[in-house]
Amino acid sequence: MELRQVAPNVYACLQPDWGLGLSNSGFVNRGGGLIVDTFWDLPRTRTMIELYATVSQEPARRLVNTHHNGDHCWGNQLLRDAEIIGHRLCAEAMMKDLKPETLQAMARSPDLAPELRSFAEALLEFDFDGIELTPPTTLIEDRLDLDLDGRPAEILYVGPAHTAGDVIVHLPEERVVFGGDVLFISCTPIGWEGTFSRWLEALDQIIGLEPEVVVPGHGPVCGVEEVRELKRYFEYVIAESKPLFEAELSALEAAKRIDLGPYADWAEPERLIFNVERAYRELRGDQWDAPVNAVGLLSQASELRRHRETSRA
Ligand SMILES: [Zn+2]
Repeated sequence: MELRQVAPNVYACLQPDWGLGLSNSGFVNRGGGLIVDTFWDLPRTRTMIELYATVSQEPARRLVNTHHNGDHCWGNQLLRDAEIIGHRLCAEAMMKDLKPETLQAMARSPDLAPELRSFAEALLEFDFDGIELTPPTTLIEDRLDLDLDGRPAEILYVGPAHTAGDVIVHLPEERVVFGGDVLFISCTPIGWEGTFSRWLEALDQIIGLEPEVVVPGHGPVCGVEEVRELKRYFEYVIAESKPLFEAELSALEAAKRIDLGPYADWAEPERLIFNVERAYRELRGDQWDAPVNAVGLLSQASELRRHRETSRA
């Protein structure tokens, strides 16, 4: 875990190598302190808070959750004295989505389906014990404008893109954007509820803000060129999926046939199945909030990884 200053009084807490659940957080050391996202478990969130304490005397007064996925909010209880801010749909989803106990049990289950074993092994890097879900209580709809010692911070709703309740944090004077999981950089994006059109709009919105520094939810600190590259990835997957959908191939068969080209080097390329399935969902005309079969898609991702390994060998 690394603390990196990205602008005066603005920091990112980064978790290479950006694999499963290794998310980033942000900290603005003004106006009493504003943290952007906690981590997936309490030990990692404690380390993050300790790193922020090396540059600030006081506990942060505010926390923003960019969305409800556990790797961005399951450490919230360690900041329960702060004002916790998030979108209304983020707060709702946090309480009805996957529970920490479920993941803790899954990671240690002796009789898991073979195709879920590598996922479960990755979960063993985390300790989901003792987590009490602590959702935002300051709920936003479109945007919230904060004044941090005379400098603005804008919390902007951009969902439903990666999830229903996605927000980004924009610091216009420092020209910094914390993108949450609307941004996966150098690692393959994965989405839940939402649409590609909203996701692409969210990326355009970030590009339009003309930030100098962009902190993604997963991946290294970057600039707008990497945001454009993510946009090209989605446009490529959407374009490649369409004829395969029309030829009535399953999403998994389609994912096996798509040549990832320059994107094959991104971490976890097998997450392509989530993006092909989303393209299929939209081609079928499904609702944007139709439930995503996470376990089924994780199994298919594991099959896709094996397929890619054997066809490379
Ligand atoms: Zn995440």
